[in-house]
Amino acid sequence: MALRFALMIDPVASDDRRESFDDAFTVVDPLGPALPLGELSAQRGDGVFESLGVVDGHAQEVGPHLDRLAHSAHLLDLPAPNAAQWRAAIARVAAEAGPGESVIKLILSRGIEEGSSPTAWVTLATAPENTRARTEGVRVVTLDRGYQLDVPGRAPWLLLGAKTLSYAVNMAAIREAKRRGADDAVFVTTDGYVLEAPTASVILRLGDRFVTPEPAAGILHGTTQRSLFAHLAQRGFSTVYEPVLLSDLRTADAAWLLSSVRLAAPISAVDGVEKTVDRDLTDELNAYLLSPRD
Ligand code: PLP
Repeated sequence: MALRFALMIDPVASDDRRESFDDAFTVVDPLGPALPLGELSAQRGDGVFESLGVVDGHAQEVGPHLDRLAHSAHLLDLPAPNAAQWRAAIARVAAEAGPGESVIKLILSRGIEEGSSPTAWVTLATAPENTRARTEGVRVVTLDRGYQLDVPGRAPWLLLGAKTLSYAVNMAAIREAKRRGADDAVFVTTDGYVLEAPTASVILRLGDRFVTPEPAAGILHGTTQRSLFAHLAQRGFSTVYEPVLLSDLRTADAAWLLSSVRLAAPISAVDGVEKTVDRDLTDELNAYLLSPRD
């Protein structure tokens, strides 16, 4: 993704009610050096982030992304983000986006080693090409996540519900999926439950029911999945959070990967077994996801 604009943020306290945050923003060269080597985000992946879709200059689902940023920060014992400051930063960066699809990333790092405050910045990049994934779909392989469904509750220090900067495992899973001839992976617990993809939520269609695994299962609560469930519920479908077995994924009438940038990518094969892609419904879901959403 080609970076086009970047803004460093001097994070203010969450209860700071100032009218303008302009003094706390610095525009930097998105392709130049901007972080000291002591940055804990770079050294340890110690921080949290969000990726927002931007369509024709409109940043999608800002509120839900900021809520999740605050949730992730809380899980990592980072200072609570000032929502008004982050909103102002997103508005400043979205103003540079122009027509078409872009991506805004929000990054909140623990800061410099032995420093006293977090480091934060926001970037704007052109969105990758996703047309093929949205129309023809993605072939997935299921990969063992290495723990049972009850682990997130037993070991909260694993930070399984936080969107941390430590995505090396997620990237390794995608590389493994590609080695196996697929496009992407779906993580499964050792006791056979579907979790999520390395960078997306999973939803299934079982007749008139749309189903996704419960966020308490140590997965991210996807902003795209939440928005789409609200839309589907309005259209009269039933939308449910429940444990999803690997066999449910295999036998579901249809399934999708959902994320803020790729939007709805139908799953066209699971572990080499073809799945039907519902092109009309998928087109409709993506038309909704591309419409301005707050
Ligand atoms: N799960 C993981 C692990 C992700 O990284 C993402 C997005 O990047 C999602 C789910 C989907 O979240 P959202 O729809 O908010 O982009």
